[in-house]
Amino acid sequence: MRFFIGLAILFTGLQSIAYPGIDQCWDINNKPVSIQQTVALGQAAESNIINGLPTILLHPQMMGQYPHDVQQFIVAHECAHHRQGHVVRVHFGGSLPITSEFDADCMAIKTLKDLGLLNAFVLRNIQTFLSSLHADATHPGGTHRAQYAQQCAQ
Ligand SMILES: [Zn+2]
Repeated sequence: MRFFIGLAILFTGLQSIAYPGIDQCWDINNKPVSIQQTVALGQAAESNIINGLPTILLHPQMMGQYPHDVQQFIVAHECAHHRQGHVVRVHFGGSLPITSEFDADCMAIKTLKDLGLLNAFVLRNIQTFLSSLHADATHPGGTHRAQYAQQCAQ
């Protein structure tokens, strides 16, 4: 769930994938966001702009290791990065505050809630997933993200 500047990476053999309800995603400029699968990815998911098109890239095997509700959360989180303008900003050389991850998590939780896909069991699965994530230069620690997700679900 990080950004990459796409120029250095060749994406071939992209395939569309459906996440019903979640995959209706538009970026900050109201461009439709394409969701594609590729094994040419070092992580489960990332957001990017490819050939001018806002895109979410998913690694099918890495995504497949998560329960379906966590996969939905991940896609909604990536969509939130597009919707909130994070992807465009990074693509054009800007930087993001680390709170961007909390914002994307929170919007994803609210998206699932609005779609009627959030319940206590789903929230627990999402929190377990978030807790497993490590902090780095652009991502806060998973424990904090799990706590914040709880607040967003209220
Ligand atoms: Zn993120």
